[in-house]
Amino acid sequence: MTTYFNYPEPKLQEELKRIANAIVAPGKGILAADESTGTMGKRLAGISVENTEDNRRKYRQLLFTCDPALANSISGVILFHETLYQKSDDGTLFVDLIKGQGIIPGIKVDKGVVSLMGSEGESTTQGLDDLSQRCAQYKKDGCDFAKWRSVLKIGKNTPSYQSMMENANVLARYASICQMNGLVPIVEPEVLMDGAHDLDRAQKVTETVLSFTYKALQDHHVFLEGTLLKPNMVLAGQECPTKYTPQQAAQATVTALSRTVPAAVPGITFLSGGQSEEEATIHLDAVNKCACAKKPWALTFSFGRALQASALKAWSGKTDQVKAGQDELIKRATANGAAALGKYAAGSVGGTAGDAGLFVKNHQY
Ligand code: 13P
Repeated sequence: MTTYFNYPEPKLQEELKRIANAIVAPGKGILAADESTGTMGKRLAGISVENTEDNRRKYRQLLFTCDPALANSISGVILFHETLYQKSDDGTLFVDLIKGQGIIPGIKVDKGVVSLMGSEGESTTQGLDDLSQRCAQYKKDGCDFAKWRSVLKIGKNTPSYQSMMENANVLARYASICQMNGLVPIVEPEVLMDGAHDLDRAQKVTETVLSFTYKALQDHHVFLEGTLLKPNMVLAGQECPTKYTPQQAAQATVTALSRTVPAAVPGITFLSGGQSEEEATIHLDAVNKCACAKKPWALTFSFGRALQASALKAWSGKTDQVKAGQDELIKRATANGAAALGKYAAGSVGGTAGDAGLFVKNHQY
């Protein structure tokens, strides 16, 4: 009887639903601050700050000691393992500072990507082996949601069937293990912006990848009401000669999502994927304004680079510039909170990073 299975018990369903819905409350989104030690090193190198544990701690302290107004537009923060156990100067655990502001702590649980043999540069994501024990511990230590990133690349022969099957299955195993341990899984199948493909190709690849993903989630009996999706926005490749308007990108994005993401999913929290801060906000706003198809889920942000670029630059590792960095973060978070409601006026919020592109080839997190 292959169609016989159970969803989580009602109490767990309620808890997962409550957390997922709180994260995508109207006008709120996620600060993705889960850069691995190596990735954080690259960010710090950009402002000539050494990649030491204490410098990473100081930077994250800036993020987590902002004005309480941050919580008006930030509902959740994704942390890296190291950060979950770090403390502020006065000895308070970051996780307690975050919860004290009414923001929900989350944790990156994947252990990065590895190559798929015989593929054209494709990958799968590792970290399933001890995932259940780690999730149980993270839940005890204050986290209510998790993130796992899978990466798919657009090329002449990619994404391949092998990579779409494998990544969908790994995401589904991850999601079910999270739910067993009371964590809301953020399912992130990122189709990279690398390449010269046009918007139509990006849309079709995203539709196909999402279809594989939701088939696998169903096969693994994942309780969709207690999940969130973190996809790429549908955008033409970084090297595509044709330029599209935000409205065209929004239409491609909403169409792809409406064809593939079940209405049971409470929210979609986009990654920024290498767009500039302003581009990412404008696209999020356009997606929320777009009326080309039904949108039964909240559409909001889970940005890393597009929320932090100006804050990092304004801070630049200087003790007397902490407040300047925090002001930049609040400005950008507020702009994205407005975009999540379709109420952002393009160009109304400037930033220290200006309109600088944040694209990184073959981006690792
Ligand atoms: P970007 O917004 O910088 O793409 O990162 C978000 C993220 O969490 C990627 O996994």
